Amino acid sequence: MASIEFNNVIKRYGTGPKANQVIHGVSAEVKDGEFVVIVGPSGCGKSTLLRMVAGLEEITEGTISIGGRVVNNLEPAERDIAMVFQNYALYPHMSVFDNMAYGLKIKKVPPDEIRARVDKAAKILELGSFLQRKPRELSGGQRQRVAMGRAIVRQPQVFLFDEPLSNLDAKLRAQTRLEIEKLHRELGITSLFVTHDQVEAMTLAQRMMVMNAGRMEQFGTPEEVYHRP
Ligand code: ADP
Ligand code: ADP
Repeated sequence: MASIEFNNVIKRYGTGPKANQVIHGVSAEVKDGEFVVIVGPSGCGKSTLLRMVAGLEEITEGTISIGGRVVNNLEPAERDIAMVFQNYALYPHMSVFDNMAYGLKIKKVPPDEIRARVDKAAKILELGSFLQRKPRELSGGQRQRVAMGRAIVRQPQVFLFDEPLSNLDAKLRAQTRLEIEKLHRELGITSLFVTHDQVEAMTLAQRMMVMNAGRMEQFGTPEEVYHRP
């Protein structure tokens, strides 16, 4: 677990006269173990902010720290984060177990440690009886859970969710939302969750970072954001 600190973060795409500034000095601190939802209309910069935390996008000015360490110059793999995307991109020829174990094998984590981590993730996600199946033998919801399992076994300090619910039908969306809540209850890992859906933001967030046109307009609990005097 770790805090995430944004210190006057600015993002410009491109350079020179064609440069387009899309984040205009965001400062905020996400506390250890907090679940924060970044919400706002399409194009306001949510995904850019998240990708800068992940190291998938360069930070033009300012700093982002994870657990007190400035990460501006760290590679994604050095940042102790795991990202959950909307399309789960599982390896089709591998079993559920191997899908979850793959990244750890590459990192030369010992086999019994891999087994223990996968079993723990499978228990939380109720995937224990599916570990030998292939992705095509799973429902959409189960596949989504395997994708989350791949993030969990990394034991990151931070989870980053990039609109993971937006391509799902209503039933699956509700189910996956409950799973994400359970995940946070059980593991308490600091999480940033991006969505353009206000209802989703309100139901999931401990605090909401409300973005508009590259600026953070509010940062507070759903009550604070929606019931301001
Ligand atoms: P959101 O996630 O809120 O929809 P984004 O962070 O994707 O917003 O985009 C913010 C702004 O940055 C938009 O104007 C978008 O067009 C622009 N943008 C996003 N990615 C790139 C890129 N790779 N190159 C240039 N402009 C980009
Ligand atoms: P490994 O993670 O062991 O390097 P992978 O093939 O799983 O091997 O990942 C390749 C790259 O993608 C690595 O840099 C890894 O850190 C990164 N990566 C993999 N899965 C995730 C994830 N869920 N979130 C963030 N980064 C990831």
